[in-house]
Parts: sequence; structure tokens; C-alpha cells
Amino acid sequence: MKKPKIIWLNVSVFLLTFLFAAIAVPYRAITHGFDSTEILMAVACFIYCGMSITAGYHRLWSHKTYQAHWSLRIIYALGGAFALQNSILHWSSDHRIHHKHVDNNDVDPYSAKRGFWYSHIGWMLREYQVHRYTNYDNVRDLQKDAIVMWQHKHYLLLTVSLNFGIPLLFGWWHGDIISSLLLVGVLRLVLSHHTTFFINSLAHIWGKQTYTEKNTARDNGFLALLTFGEGYHNFHHIFENDYRNGIRWWQFDPTKWLIKSCHYLGLTDKLRTSPEDKIEKARLAMILKRSQQKLSNHPNAEQLLERLQHEYDALIHKINDYYAIKKALLTTKRDQLIADVEKSEMMSQYQELKQRLTEQRRSWQFFIEKLA
Ligand SMILES: [Zn+2]
Ligand SMILES: [Zn+2]
Repeated sequence: MKKPKIIWLNVSVFLLTFLFAAIAVPYRAITHGFDSTEILMAVACFIYCGMSITAGYHRLWSHKTYQAHWSLRIIYALGGAFALQNSILHWSSDHRIHHKHVDNNDVDPYSAKRGFWYSHIGWMLREYQVHRYTNYDNVRDLQKDAIVMWQHKHYLLLTVSLNFGIPLLFGWWHGDIISSLLLVGVLRLVLSHHTTFFINSLAHIWGKQTYTEKNTARDNGFLALLTFGEGYHNFHHIFENDYRNGIRWWQFDPTKWLIKSCHYLGLTDKLRTSPEDKIEKARLAMILKRSQQKLSNHPNAEQLLERLQHEYDALIHKINDYYAIKKALLTTKRDQLIADVEKSEMMSQYQELKQRLTEQRRSWQFFIEKLA
């Protein structure tokens, strides 16, 4: 089969910036050195670009997991153009297709099943899906956002002026234009590009399938460090409407922290999360499946499988009971149906079911660890 045409503009941009970052930057570091102000500025711009993509392009516009004030949307729109990752409209359109048709080699724009190179960068180097490059039917909602459309219309001007303007201005102010162009301009851009691209490549190859095996997405704490929290990609693919990717307090998800912090400042609103019981059930179903597979060759398989199923059913039962009363309790509290909710019969029932669930979780954990 004939390969699609090469997109020379993309190839040149990726190749030239990469060569400058790999050769000219180290050469300048050795022969001239960079000072701490330059390094700090490059790090700040790296964070600004990265989080405009994760909090803005990804969690706000592609998935609508929360709402943001126009001032924040302008900041994201500029940061996204600075990150040189195409317009919000185009990026979100690609990304929604990626979720809807994940791993489908013919439709998913960066299908991980086509290999590391393709999903990382190869998909942007040739006209693989030229027929839909200007089809924005799946982002009609975003077309109502004036900031999105303004950025889309002036994307080229914005991306060129930010990528040259910021390094030039900073270099002029700081007194070393060449160092600034190399560090704040090129190295920042290349690192920002490839760490983001890892989410499409590595985060679909390397890590744990904690919640689902229906697609290639993986949870990977190390990748989360490089991608402002987007490494928890298995969770993200199953609960894509959740503004969080790392849901535990100890998981590194600065994008979530940013969105939440902005909420306290009144800049973000309507933060969406997935129901806790659904998340726990998805995780348990995966543990059940893996344990069943592990047990199938065991000499005592039949007996152990039966016990496993029994523990699982008991746990699901208690989860259902607990979350049902929790929900009822919240409704009662909200509507103040009972004058003193804290002392009510419902509250003591809730406490009891909570205790029972904790015990059942312990028993399940104990049994699963014994099997391991
Ligand atoms: Zn996504
Ligand atoms: Zn993905």
C-alpha cells in the first residue's frame, strides 16, 4: 500500500527543533553556560505550556470536566499556542475521536496499536487522515466558545509570535538573546512536545491496567511526573468525564490541584467526578478477573474460585448497601428532611454499614494477598 504524503512542515519543525535541542543546547551549555534565571524561565514556560494543554485543551475543552472563567481560558489558549500543538478546536476534535475509537487503527488518530513511533509522533508526519482535517462536527459545542474560535482563526500568528516573542523579549531583557532562544525557545518546546506525546505512546504501552482491559491505556506514576498528572491514563479512559486523573491523595496530579485551587479562587466551577462506588467496582472487577486467571491452574482451583466469588459477591453487596445509604443521607442533609441528621436512625445505620464495608474490604484484601 502506498504511504500517505509526507507533511514537510511538521517534519521540518520536529526535526529542526530536536536537532537544535540535542546539539546546539548542550554545545552552548559547555562553551557558554546558562544561568539560573534562564533555567528558571525555561522551566516556568515548560510548566505553562504543559498545563495549558492538560488543564485547558484536555480536561476543559476536550472532556468538559469543569467550567472555567474567560480569563483562565485566555491564559490556556495562549499557552496552548505557545506549546505548538495546533488549535484547541483541532486538538480537541482529534482527542474526542481518540477516546471514542480508542485502539481502532483506522479511526483513532494516534492508535497505540500502530506502535510506539506512530502513536508518539508518526501520526503527525504524514497525511494519514487528510479527509477529516477540517471536519469539526464533533466539537460543535466548542465552536460556541469565542476564545476557542479566536485562537483557531489566529493560530498561526499566535504560535509564531509567542514562540519567538517570549524568548526574544526575555533574552533582550536578561541580556543574552541566543541563550534564551535555545533554552526558553527550543529546549522548552521540544521537552513540552515529547512529554505530551508520551501520553499517546507510553501511557498506552507501559503501566497497569487498574480499571479496565478494554483498551490499551495504562496507569503509570512515573509518566504522571512528566505530564502534570496525565500518567493515570487507564483511569482517564474509563472515567473521562472526571476532572481528576490521579484520584488518590498521594498520586501526582498537579493538573487536578490547579483546577481545584482555581475553584477556591472562583475561576473554575462545576468540577465533575465519577461516583466512588463505580470506581471501586471497576477496580475490583479487574482484581477478580486476574485472580480467576491465576487460580485456574491451581490444584485446589474449584474450591478457591468458589471462595473468591463468595468474597467478591459479599463485597459488592456491602458496597451497594453503603453507597445507597450514603446517598440517601446526603439528600436528607441537603433537603434538611430530618431536623437533627447527625443523631438520626439513618446516621447510625450509615455508620454500621460503613463499618461492615470496612471489615469486608479487609477480608477481601486478606484473601487476595493470600492468593498472590
Ligand atoms: Zn482524554
Ligand atoms: Zn489515550
